[in-house]
Amino acid sequence: MPMNIAIDGPVGAGKSSIADLVAERLHILHLDTGAMYRAVALDVLRSGIDPRDGEAVAGVCEEADVRVRYENGAQRTLLGDEDVTGLIRTKEVSAAASHVSKWPAVRRRMVRAQRELAKTADMLIDGRDIGTNVLVDAPVKIYLTATPEERARRRYMQQMEKGDTTPYEQVLSALNERDSQDMNRETDPLRQAEDAVLVDSTRMTPEQVVDAIVAIVEEVYGK
Ligand code: C5P
Repeated sequence: MPMNIAIDGPVGAGKSSIADLVAERLHILHLDTGAMYRAVALDVLRSGIDPRDGEAVAGVCEEADVRVRYENGAQRTLLGDEDVTGLIRTKEVSAAASHVSKWPAVRRRMVRAQRELAKTADMLIDGRDIGTNVLVDAPVKIYLTATPEERARRRYMQQMEKGDTTPYEQVLSALNERDSQDMNRETDPLRQAEDAVLVDSTRMTPEQVVDAIVAIVEEVYGK
């Protein structure tokens, strides 16, 4: 059985970057499941469909050919043959992803694909419902979070570095909006699995978070 580590948590908890670092330390792959929902969202936006229209989204999703590939250990996300890894990181796609991901038809397809991928290699899988739904039997489950203000502050700093001057208040309200959608949707809402270890990174450096997670993994799997 491949090694499966589930990391869930809200927007901006640093799951993706922490998961990359942990995966590198453990010499395993990192599956970013948010990228798969983002690829569906991009397809929906390109089709000119409202991400809030469940039936229309389900129709696009039926046809959407979302694939994940690894190049030198790094995830590439594809729509058919097109590599959309960079195109799915816009604010428009972020907002649309949190709408399309609430529709059961979309979730069913993505969850099925994620379970298949998890069987193929030792992987750390990050998302919202990995420990509670996708891999309920994962031997290691982490719930990574931080206060909304700290998560918004980190996101704000990252955006500033890229020249995006969106005010902090706006970053915080977009983050709260996405959290609320993820936590209150009917299908697979974001919540901490009962057997997940809570890591609150509010006062931790990324190195401390990585060390804490690696220590939890080593306790279960041995060094
Ligand atoms: O993690 P990221 O912010 O890239 O995810 C984009 C969106 O995809 C999230 O806002 C969330 O709504 C959705 N998502 C999900 N289930 C997952 C991963 C992401 O619903 N396992």
